[in-house]
Amino acid sequence: MLRHSLLWLSSNPQVRGFAVHSSVGRQMARRFVAGECLADAVAVVRELNVHGLSASLDHLGENVSSADQARQATQDYIDILHRIKQEGLNANISVKLTQLGLGLDGDGVQDNLLRILAEADALGDTVTVDMEGSAYTERTVRLVLAARRQHANVGVAIQSYLYRSQADLDELVRAKVCGIRLCKGAYDEPPTIAFPHKQDVDQNYRQLTRFLLGSGCHPALATHDVRLIEFALQNVQDLGLGPGDFEFQMLYGIRRDLQERLVSGGWALRVYVPYGSEWYPYLMRRLAERPANLLFFARSLASEIVPNHRGA
Ligand SMILES: Cc1cc2nc3c(=O)[nH]c(=O)nc-3n(C[C@H](O)[C@H](O)[C@H](O)COP(=O)(O)OP(=O)(O)OC[C@H]3O[C@@H](n4cnc5c(N)ncnc54)[C@H](O)[C@@H]3O)c2cc1C
Repeated sequence: MLRHSLLWLSSNPQVRGFAVHSSVGRQMARRFVAGECLADAVAVVRELNVHGLSASLDHLGENVSSADQARQATQDYIDILHRIKQEGLNANISVKLTQLGLGLDGDGVQDNLLRILAEADALGDTVTVDMEGSAYTERTVRLVLAARRQHANVGVAIQSYLYRSQADLDELVRAKVCGIRLCKGAYDEPPTIAFPHKQDVDQNYRQLTRFLLGSGCHPALATHDVRLIEFALQNVQDLGLGPGDFEFQMLYGIRRDLQERLVSGGWALRVYVPYGSEWYPYLMRRLAERPANLLFFARSLASEIVPNHRGA
């Protein structure tokens, strides 16, 4: 219930306006977001690289409302790719197709994605397409499959909460899409298309992990769930795979202890590093994942509204 409400609030403009202007909102965002500008994100990635972790940079933004905004977001990503190269960072990028114009009329989104992929190809880098809400799943999969015909450096996120995900993976693996990122899924989806119970989402995650590890397509297992990580490592051992055959991925600001443990165990780990001023929907999805985050947020907010409020 709380999760549904938070995800609903993630698209509410009034609450968004309040949160982005509140110092508590911005403080809370800092836990999950590297900063507001590229220099902040570059500093975070450099530090991660020093400790043996790679990164994926996300310039926050989604659901743009004009073709100009989509073109600007595309250019921003191209600039990020050049900055990664100039700075010699071990990083790639993650893009949301609604930031590149999915949801607007016309073929702009496809052109924008292909421009980014061509630039990344020329610079020897890779691009992962984030998976958004189910209104976009089918078109995202189609656009990635079409892009794969021209560029081998495109990957995509697949969500284990969707019933359709095994069929999508079959098609993506057949088309030799590499770097598929398996996550549980962060949006509010109805039980007609998504498992409503966590244990079924986790069970599907296990099944899809086994499938991806056996596919030879260098998958990314994106989770902070220790039981699922242990399951993956058991499968890695059973299949005789090594650290070069797949990677773990986690979000900036979450389970740093686990990130360090995996890296010191010799496993490849990439941290998803979001930055930018459009952090509100991203923050709401992180709050929805863990009610304890919300409690902390609510207490801080109460003390901002009523300065000597001590929380309950
Ligand atoms: C690299 C990466 C990329 C992602 N890309 C996408 C995408 O493209 N599309 C999409 O829909 N989703 C994406 N997600 C989000 C994902 O779908 C889940 O919502 C999120 O990872 C939480 O699920 P979990 O696997 O960590 O398991 P959970 O069972 O939710 O959590 C396991 C444990 O992780 C910790 N944890 C998890 N979330 C939080 C949090 N917000 N705050 C603090 N601790 C937390 C807690 O200790 C928790 O007990 C991505 C996740 C990662 C790691």
